Amino acid sequence: MSEPSNQVKGWCPGALRPMRSGDGLIVRVRLTGGELTPERAAALAEAAGRFGNGLIDLTSRANLQMRGVRDETLQPLLDRLAELDLLDASAAAEQVRNVIASPLAGLDPSASIDVQPLIRALELRLIGNDRFHSLPAKFGFLLDGGGVLSLDGVEADIAVRAEDDGHFRLEAGGEVLGRVRVEEGLDAALGVAERFLALRQPDERRMRDVVIRLQDEARLPSPRSGLCISEGNAWGGPTKSGRMGEGPLAALQPEKAALAVHTPSVAPHFVEKAGALSRLAGHHPSALFFTAAAPFGRLDAGQLEGLAAIAARHGATLRLTPWRSILLAPLAVDVGMEVSSLGLVVDPHDPRLAIAACPGSPSCLSGEVSAQADAARLAPVLAGFVERGASVHVSGCAKGCARRAPASITLVGQGGRYGIAFDADSKAPSETEPMSLGELTAFLAKRLQHFPEKLSDFSIKKMR
Ligand code: SF4
Repeated sequence: MSEPSNQVKGWCPGALRPMRSGDGLIVRVRLTGGELTPERAAALAEAAGRFGNGLIDLTSRANLQMRGVRDETLQPLLDRLAELDLLDASAAAEQVRNVIASPLAGLDPSASIDVQPLIRALELRLIGNDRFHSLPAKFGFLLDGGGVLSLDGVEADIAVRAEDDGHFRLEAGGEVLGRVRVEEGLDAALGVAERFLALRQPDERRMRDVVIRLQDEARLPSPRSGLCISEGNAWGGPTKSGRMGEGPLAALQPEKAALAVHTPSVAPHFVEKAGALSRLAGHHPSALFFTAAAPFGRLDAGQLEGLAAIAARHGATLRLTPWRSILLAPLAVDVGMEVSSLGLVVDPHDPRLAIAACPGSPSCLSGEVSAQADAARLAPVLAGFVERGASVHVSGCAKGCARRAPASITLVGQGGRYGIAFDADSKAPSETEPMSLGELTAFLAKRLQHFPEKLSDFSIKKMR
């Protein structure tokens, strides 16, 4: 186990490499495919209360992290995770298992491709090749089988996404590289990861930093191999002639490649389907799933224990989603009342689903305000904006952990007060003097009168 660390750039907590924060250690448990049996979920809930402060964050990579773990309870917690078969052999193996997959993998007959067998296979190949252990900590993969809960809009450094004709579309840094057959999907994804490692400079941590060079390399002859364009290039990418080389991407079909994919930062399923009981399409008309959302991605041990009990009663499993929610499936009946009794969000129109908020202080050492608590207090006044299509980001500091993309309204903590910016990210300068929570509430209530019925009519000038 590594020494717990304060946060440094480009670093993520794990179980074997926990992060020290304002409320103790953060221990992240990485779940293969986001899947939890009811027994494991109940055991993790018990562990969160016994070894931590009982608070659990759901991450945008479909993992969970326990908060408030103490130095003296860390080792007993790791022992418990090992008993549950949820502890990796090394911190490096844990870190490289950065794979997001379709939350209904293996359960959704309407999926174009069942990616469930590929999830663990990809993890094992990442763990088993030391070369991949040098991938940056936040570098991640995505496997999208399509179907009822496709991962459209969820970003990853390397993504393979099912197409209707049974092929995968291969993307790197949001750019489409081409198409591959299902059986070649993992080889192609790992081939791109190899090229990332070869092309990156020391300060380049994400695929988007090198994707243009990667595309250029795919189009041009390789100086190392001496191959000319018409004969393919060294790593097998598409050539001007349309022929493939013999490298790791030899299976790529370039004819449907596009220059860019625009990936919205707001997860549509999170808004549309949180709390909604949806029917799985296909051959099992009785199979249902239910999505329970935790306000701002945080729940407590009792709520996780309650979800585990509901899943056990109905013979379902739990799946964490990249939209910071927990899905129960398959189900034969509506469990909305049972989930609602736990205090979790079951109304898809709950404004908190459209508000991104990091923990802020005191949980985070960098927090200048209590972002999540304040976001909950501001939710009634922010609801008016959300109903009209606005996105909202409440950030404990300018780092903006909860949302990278700009939001219609961005509130950023500054010394216990809030700056505000419109159509901006958390690093944008405030457009007003920093306000107290009371001043901010009054400001927003007044500005709501000028906010248009439709977001498309939104005028920043009227908001100022
Ligand atoms: S944005 Fe929030 S979670 Fe991230 S460092 Fe700042 S206060 Fe902490």
